[in-house]
Amino acid sequence: MHYTGRMARTIDLHFLGTPGVIATAVVPCDGGVLLVDPGPSSCLPALTEGLRGIGLAWPDVRGLLLTHIHLDHAGASGTLAQRWPGMPVYVHAIGARHLAQPERLVASATRLYGDDMARLWGEFLAVPADALRPLTGGEALALHGRAIDVAYTPGHAVHHVSYFDRTTRTAFVGDTAGVRVEGAPVFAATPPPDIDIAAWLASLDTIAAWGPSSLFLTHFGAYDDPDRHVAQFRDTLVQAATAARDLLRTGGDDASLVTQWQAWQRDDLRARGGLDAAIRSAESAAPFDQIWQGLARYWRKRVEKDGPGVLHTPPA
Ligand SMILES: [Zn+2]
Repeated sequence: MHYTGRMARTIDLHFLGTPGVIATAVVPCDGGVLLVDPGPSSCLPALTEGLRGIGLAWPDVRGLLLTHIHLDHAGASGTLAQRWPGMPVYVHAIGARHLAQPERLVASATRLYGDDMARLWGEFLAVPADALRPLTGGEALALHGRAIDVAYTPGHAVHHVSYFDRTTRTAFVGDTAGVRVEGAPVFAATPPPDIDIAAWLASLDTIAAWGPSSLFLTHFGAYDDPDRHVAQFRDTLVQAATAARDLLRTGGDDASLVTQWQAWQRDDLRARGGLDAAIRSAESAAPFDQIWQGLARYWRKRVEKDGPGVLHTPPA
């Protein structure tokens, strides 16, 4: 093993051949490394190549830290855990159940991606039960000389956790601090079915309370302006939820609402300085139709619970 730095490194998984869309974080520890979000198995060749590029091989990997189980973050976990017995997989307890028995997760992803599942994500295998390390948030992990705190950070997904490496003060936040690719401003990935704006804003407070000096986003990489980033992301999340509410109030049919949303999303990213090529990368990290579906579901659930009046109230 050649890689002995303290800071986390970024491996670009070149998702579907595109750079800058999905990142795995490589966190050094005694005698090896930990990986935060290994990505989908369709990207395993790129991940193996990326490890080799910094002098590492799979036997150096001491564990997987999953922020959540969406396929773009965690799809390769079962393949890796089966291939390398003894490699622990840290994940929120709700996610752990689905990784052990992936039928429901695969069915729900198939509803979103249909025939495109294999091309996008590759195989999805169960994680053996003895490899799973279920978390609930609040844990202080001591992993091969590395002190890593775990926080429960729902909002994007009900089983989302974030990790804080005390040595480098880096917070690994998955999708909780949004999507920010080179050349485009930060925005929220809000796929169905779990979106919860109030919980999400509270999770941003949780991350800010760590006082991180760097945020590592799966989409894409490390940013060293956490205060500014979180403040901007908070605004953009509330704006998007508000725009979705206003669009729902117009009462159009689903197909036209999706089209209008996609246009809104592109205009918003352009208005905030996004370049066209970067907006396309952003969309492959977080398809705009799914952003609409997740926000629409969020509001429809609230209407079911509290009546149509909620469509005249703030998002959280
Ligand atoms: Zn993601």
